[in-house]
Amino acid sequence: MPVPTSWGARASWSWRPCPKARCASASNSVGRTLCIPGAALVGDAAHTVHPVGGQGMNLAFQDAELLADLLGHAQGRADLLDEATRLYSDGRRRQVKRVLHLTHVMGLIGSLESLPLIRAREMFLRLFNRTRLLKKLFVQRIIDVG
Ligand SMILES: Cc1cc2nc3c(=O)[nH]c(=O)nc-3n(C[C@H](O)[C@H](O)[C@H](O)COP(=O)(O)OP(=O)(O)OC[C@H]3O[C@@H](n4cnc5c(N)ncnc54)[C@H](O)[C@@H]3O)c2cc1C
Repeated sequence: MPVPTSWGARASWSWRPCPKARCASASNSVGRTLCIPGAALVGDAAHTVHPVGGQGMNLAFQDAELLADLLGHAQGRADLLDEATRLYSDGRRRQVKRVLHLTHVMGLIGSLESLPLIRAREMFLRLFNRTRLLKKLFVQRIIDVG
């Protein structure tokens, strides 16, 4: 079945030139809406995330969890099902956008080509790896768990 154009979803993440580095653009990689009456998108069909973050599967699980929860509350009532998918779409788009932005920044940092900036990145990563609290906060922020 062809994807309705109203989804606004992209088939795959795309490479676009960034000012200083080559990095997959993540800003438009979530559909304008993740639902139409009677159907909802989850996982990679709904959003594509920069591979550097390794978050595609996590996002897909979170999609499924929220959608199942909201559909469960609708208890099969037709009038509530579309409202449930709309709530799902709004809630997930907010969360997914946040992850897309974070992973996009990670992609940019990972694509640095200037030697001083690469050294600064390595220094920061060493420091980051030793700082358990910072690491924990970052992971919590990106995957929304813990
Ligand atoms: C190399 C790699 C490493 C990754 N590492 C991570 C990671 O570390 N952490 C993480 O969270 N995510 C990671 N991901 C992303 C993650 O794998 C995906 O985000 C996740 O699998 C998306 O799940 P999905 O169910 O939406 O899509 P998919 O897993 O792609 O499932 C779609 C399914 O639909 C089937 N299909 C397609 N077209 C049709 C059709 N017309 N009819 C019937 N069936 C069809 C496909 O065969 C496939 O089985 C990685 C991805 C790749 C490629």
